Amino acid sequence: MNILVLNAGSSSLKYQLINIETQTVLAKGICERVGSADSFHKHGIDENEVVIDTPMQDHTEAMKVVLDTLTSGPHAAISSMDEIDAIGHRIVQGGKYFDRSVLIDDDVVSRIDELAELAPLHNKAALMGIDACRTYMPDKPMVAVFDSAYFQTLPPKAFMYGIPYEYYEKYGVRKYGAHGTSHRYIAERAADFIDEPLEDLKIITCHLGNGCSMSAIDHGIAVDTSMGLTPLDGLIMGTRSGAIDPAISTFIMEHEGLTPSQMSDVLNKKSGLLGISGVSNDMRDLRKASEEGNERAQLAYEMYSNSVKKYIGQYIAVMGGVDVIVLTAGVGENCDKMRRMIFAGLQPLGIELDFERNKERGGEREISTDESRVQILVIPTDEEYMIARDTFEIVQETLQEELGERRIA
Ligand code: AMP
Repeated sequence: MNILVLNAGSSSLKYQLINIETQTVLAKGICERVGSADSFHKHGIDENEVVIDTPMQDHTEAMKVVLDTLTSGPHAAISSMDEIDAIGHRIVQGGKYFDRSVLIDDDVVSRIDELAELAPLHNKAALMGIDACRTYMPDKPMVAVFDSAYFQTLPPKAFMYGIPYEYYEKYGVRKYGAHGTSHRYIAERAADFIDEPLEDLKIITCHLGNGCSMSAIDHGIAVDTSMGLTPLDGLIMGTRSGAIDPAISTFIMEHEGLTPSQMSDVLNKKSGLLGISGVSNDMRDLRKASEEGNERAQLAYEMYSNSVKKYIGQYIAVMGGVDVIVLTAGVGENCDKMRRMIFAGLQPLGIELDFERNKERGGEREISTDESRVQILVIPTDEEYMIARDTFEIVQETLQEELGERRIA
């Protein structure tokens, strides 16, 4: 079965065509700057990637570009749309309605729309992706895979905020979390990697990229996570502040005369590594700048590692211990220096990084010493595969149910 996995952003449309039985990526790419005059389309795998300047006014046009490229011309991966069996959509916010992936129908679409208030850019973009698919492939089954669904198991003491209860009742203000598909994937892979049942383990998962989040997975159940009502909360990120004293917002708004949306821009787009260093939100640039003696770049580096270290401490306390710590995403998978700083000084907690293993590169690997009581793993994340797998399972279940109903009839 071939699954088309779509991840629609406000001005982008990312896609992968995955054969689920062979677990191979047949094609992938991204349409960027959709809606602007300089939109372009990258298509292909690794060294075979091509970049094509393509006018795309909206997601419907981007979808047409994707389908045309997949099915015809020099970069075709399949001969017609008939070879696409189902579509899986990444949706950021599923709110309280979705604790798992679901088949998309009109009711699901209106719920996603209703939840757009909590993730305005992301949910609206996903709806445009769904709409575009309905235009070109009206009969294909589509599945919604929610970033927040994995964290619907959090207990109220973890998901409630210490503010008047009425805001939870009126507006649904609570922690929803994000990156759930990635945390679910790396927790499952980690258990497989060490050959222990997920249900027997206390795991801390760390998704450290441009966006960063961490989770406590206690015996297979997510019990806490660092992102909150929105993906702004928690760890310091590339351009997002992470958790700060909430009074800072009103203080700066008053002193700088900022509107709520300008303040939101400061916290989401001008803060984090970029805001502290004044250099970049990219860890590679920061590393270079700090090695050249830039003190603010060094400070940003230290704040990032310290922020991860503190969450490790929190989650050990929340779960009463930890067996495995898993790292993933751009920084978690690739930055040995950051990993060294994160785990420095944690030996008294039974967490010992192996410096030589830490320098190795590659896929799934252990980077703790043989003596470390807690295993530290690096697991490259694969959200697209998870979306494809959920889509496959839900479509299979639906087909079987339909078959059963027909037999009964
Ligand atoms: P992601 O959001 O997962 O794509 O991660 C992006 C972040 O990973 C950026 O800050 C990159 O600088 C960082 N990154 C990617 N490769 C490396 C590397 N080899 N060393 C350090 N940081 C890296």
